[in-house]
Amino acid sequence: MSEERMLEHARPEFAKASEDLQKLGTREAVVNFYARHEARLGTAMAASTQTVACEAGCSFCCRQFEVVAQPVEVLEIHAHVSRHFKPDQLRGVIQRATQNVAARKAATEQERLTLRPTCPFLVDHSCSIYAVRPSVCRNYHATDKDNCQKSFDDPFSTWPTSYVEELFDTAMGSSAGFKNAVTALGLDTRDYHLSAAFLEAMRDPACAKRFKSGKKAFLKATAPGFNG
Ligand code: SF4
Repeated sequence: MSEERMLEHARPEFAKASEDLQKLGTREAVVNFYARHEARLGTAMAASTQTVACEAGCSFCCRQFEVVAQPVEVLEIHAHVSRHFKPDQLRGVIQRATQNVAARKAATEQERLTLRPTCPFLVDHSCSIYAVRPSVCRNYHATDKDNCQKSFDDPFSTWPTSYVEELFDTAMGSSAGFKNAVTALGLDTRDYHLSAAFLEAMRDPACAKRFKSGKKAFLKATAPGFNG
């Protein structure tokens, strides 16, 4: 991991995101961030000598761990789904997300380590919210699909370690730049489990209001690694 390469992307992203957040608001700011993020990754990919093994139809990442997202990302997904999904699609997402939340609740701490929740937005091995998928889904580029399979098959494994380093550094730096700009405005940037946070955003319009006023956006969804 190269700290220098991460900073190279974190600094300009922080400046641009801060400007967008002030002038355009959080919704447009996150959409603009995703566009810049993808452009940076495209440039890094073109310059890399390594080959990315990720391809359409491969979904180990989407079935391996509980996907997490920040409030600004969850609220954008909620807006996208409300605008574009048909009622039966929405029912499917709600059903799958509800199953994930129930399975997590019923599991012990130890059992949670081996849960393999499928992201509720995965349909036929494809992401149904690709344009607004959270940054965590954009940031890992594997070089060996077998390694992903092994990691998926072994419930006690950690994340596969074969990935394109330049892309990883670029992605981490760019994501950190955006996150720090949102944090600097005093807004919630905790990571929440996507299934639970999405359900809460669907059911409680106050989530968006709490987020805008700098409060903890989600009250029921859990925030991994955060004790607040
Ligand atoms: S949001 Fe899309 S890319 Fe991310 S885990 Fe879910 S289905 Fe996969």
